Amino acid sequence: MFRHTILTIIKTMKKLLLLIYFFSVSLMANELPELGSSSDTIFSSADEDKISKQILYQVNKNPLVVNDIEVDDYLGNLGRRLLTGTSIASRDIKFFILNDSTINAFATLGGVIGVHTGLFLAANSESELASVLGHEIAHISQKHLPRIIAKQKRDSYKTTLALAFALLVSRSNPDLAAATSTAANASAVQNTLDFTRKHEQEADREGIKILDRAGFDVRASIDFFKTMQKGNQFSQGAAPAFLRTHPITSDRISDIQNRLSEYPYKQRMDSDNFYYVKGKIKAFLEQKKTIIKILETNIKNKSYINEAGERFALTYAYLRSNMIIKARNELENIKKKKTPNPMLLNLEAIILIQEGRITEATKLYKKGLSSFPSHRAFVYGLAEHYIRSSNTTVAIDLLNDYLLIYPEDPNLYELMSKAQAKEGKVLLQHENLAEAFYYRYNIKDAITLLDLAVRAKDGNFYEKSRVESRLKELQKELELFRKGL
Ligand SMILES: [Zn+2]
Repeated sequence: MFRHTILTIIKTMKKLLLLIYFFSVSLMANELPELGSSSDTIFSSADEDKISKQILYQVNKNPLVVNDIEVDDYLGNLGRRLLTGTSIASRDIKFFILNDSTINAFATLGGVIGVHTGLFLAANSESELASVLGHEIAHISQKHLPRIIAKQKRDSYKTTLALAFALLVSRSNPDLAAATSTAANASAVQNTLDFTRKHEQEADREGIKILDRAGFDVRASIDFFKTMQKGNQFSQGAAPAFLRTHPITSDRISDIQNRLSEYPYKQRMDSDNFYYVKGKIKAFLEQKKTIIKILETNIKNKSYINEAGERFALTYAYLRSNMIIKARNELENIKKKKTPNPMLLNLEAIILIQEGRITEATKLYKKGLSSFPSHRAFVYGLAEHYIRSSNTTVAIDLLNDYLLIYPEDPNLYELMSKAQAKEGKVLLQHENLAEAFYYRYNIKDAITLLDLAVRAKDGNFYEKSRVESRLKELQKELELFRKGL
């Protein structure tokens, strides 16, 4: 949130940055969508949609993006709750988490919001996390990025996009990452400050309203500034140098403090899921042995904010190292004190499978689904189990039911493709994998797979014509994407 590297960078492209810019532009030149040629100062919704898809394609390709349905759903639900009542409530804003220990979050063109694991783990309360998301949502609802670009040449959106990509790409390349952060520091020159300050203030003020409307503690927005300076064992404390020396922080803090005086004090209980999601993220950090040692020490010394959350992390860390008995003991510790929760049930089902108690695991997944029908981890777990145990028709029925509810879930299509492969159905295998690619915003590979599906020899007339018309549809979409509207 507070870094807004992209915003800061656009105006001050220094030497290093130019290098990255040219690198990424040449890399992306063929993939950048052409935008409509309207003379509007701000992008049309069709343009934003194209940009959004392109960014989400990059996001889905990035190996450091956390790909876990429980984490994704938690963040998405929190985000949607904050969006309610804003001017962009009807827009499909997408959220994702990037595995990066620095404390940062950013909103890009196209309504995509990224959060670093470092920021998530630094947040001491759900309200603190919500304050960051609210601030980023405000940047989008106030159209800050399109406005900045409209002020310059409209074509400079490519620069912004390329930089957004460069940031995403650089995460998997340490050399580039260093260059990006050096460039960001170097480019934090005074001439952009006025510009950013105004937007930051607007996003802060709007963010507080968003936070309040969604029932969170508005004071968390100020608490998070302090949290950010300190960091913790999983988050690199203190904002980057350019923010620390930046007068913006004290200005912003006093402005926020003024606003907060209008709001009454509000005590708010955090959801268990907030701590469990943090736990799940923590469990997969560091080396297997290291994270176990860290978490065991934390629990021994009672140095945690939430005991169940820390034990939840340790349980997953044990599982990661195949220490099943220890995982089971830890889970029992949590269960003694906590009420049933979908993330706890899912963890127990995973442990049951590791223990070889498959019938009990299946029962638990089913029980979980009937109590928490929207918790997709149960569907994935159950379908995987059915596929593994060659119960493919049951898996296909289950997946079909859930595809009706979540017709854009790539994981469901991927599982369906696996099930169909096991049944020996070539057309259906390729068709479903094509949809998985399509909903991961990879139209090109989706088309390749539909091509294979068309040529499969086992489809009936109805299936063949369905695949053919879908193929035409996607080819048209790709063409539109390349041509502009
Ligand atoms: Zn901001």
